[in-house]
Amino acid sequence: MPPGPASAETALGSPLVERFGAFGETVFTTFSALAAQTGAINLGQGVPDGPGLPLAIEVAAGAMAQGRNQYPPLAGTPELLTAIAAHQRRFRGIELDPERAILVTVGATEAMAAAVTALCEPGDEVVVFEPCYDAYAPAVAMAQGVVRTVALEAPAYTFTDAALDAAISERTRLVVVNTPHNPTGRVFGRPELERIADRCRRHDLVCLVDEVYEHLIFEGAHLSMASLDAMAERTLSISSAAKTFSLTGWKIGWITGTPELISAVRTVKQYLTFAAGTPLQLGVAAALGTDDATYAAIADDLKVRRDLLCSGLRQLGLEVHLPAAGYFAMVDLTSVTDLDADTWCRALGREAGVIAIPGSAFAPSSGTHLARFAFCKGESVLAAALERLAAVDLSAIGR
Ligand code: PMP
Ligand code: GLN
Repeated sequence: MPPGPASAETALGSPLVERFGAFGETVFTTFSALAAQTGAINLGQGVPDGPGLPLAIEVAAGAMAQGRNQYPPLAGTPELLTAIAAHQRRFRGIELDPERAILVTVGATEAMAAAVTALCEPGDEVVVFEPCYDAYAPAVAMAQGVVRTVALEAPAYTFTDAALDAAISERTRLVVVNTPHNPTGRVFGRPELERIADRCRRHDLVCLVDEVYEHLIFEGAHLSMASLDAMAERTLSISSAAKTFSLTGWKIGWITGTPELISAVRTVKQYLTFAAGTPLQLGVAAALGTDDATYAAIADDLKVRRDLLCSGLRQLGLEVHLPAAGYFAMVDLTSVTDLDADTWCRALGREAGVIAIPGSAFAPSSGTHLARFAFCKGESVLAAALERLAAVDLSAIGR
């Protein structure tokens, strides 16, 4: 008998490994499908409806036409590595060796999964601030690690030292920080980052910082964890072209850190995807070098749309937690319903024709009265969504 599973039942009846069983389908897939089925305006998944930064598109299209269509080097094209190093110097005051301290990845998502896999042994613990982006826990599951959560308490979405200390143990290996933050739009300030950095230094932890919204800030300023005292040596910083340049379909991201940490991540990444997107990498390289006025215009334009959506939602009697950054606004539903957010958001799609994401997708226990609305959409789309919401009785949704 050839070696194999004991029975077809165990091999095929329930083929997904147990540690992944809880994840099912991503909330973005579920709610985008609901939008498509019902014809609802999709303020769920963070997908801009614009075409993306023209400069990036022109350069990528030119590169394709010139035949730059084969595998890039594993770490990324020299053009993009140089552009990322220049970006980190220009905006963060951080000097990086383009050949050893930077890795281009298939979006921030691959960077996160490769980093966690590279740095965690089975059973190692990873501290995550909750609510959090939905891809973090599965990345930890891939590495057979264990998630420990620190609550960010609404509406300020801050954390206490006691909660942070309680989440750290002998088995802690990594702390994942996302600033600016999805889903809340918070920009972590220096005192908060210092409190995290202090634990990382004391307990010898690596800090994995997701900065994909670094340029989409309306109030405050982005501070890189890697720029804090003695943190460069224990920080991996992740970013992406997706959000800044409205290029979510390109999946060009990157991770930066010490040559030792990057070498570890590269070892895993080479067998996940090897490398991807040569002409797209060239487009992103050009985009990163764009002038200050273009970066400022991207954030200013998004701020107009944030204000349009948030003031409109407030006029409808909803309690909006105004985001300082990013693509999304969190809304407290308690003023309109006592239904749980998942039930209410599904009903909202069907009955009002607008999709929002239930907060429980980002914080299963505490997000049940919150909903996340995306404003990375054209003004006419946002206005149409507000009109639809105004046309229904929000307290009757799902009844
Ligand atoms: N991190 C956060 C906080 C996000 O919101 C997203 C969604 N864009 C990602 C990572 C994934 O980025 P990418 O599309 O570059 O994989
Ligand atoms: N980052 C996007 C969001 O939070 C979704 C990305 C995805 O669909 N996986 O909406």
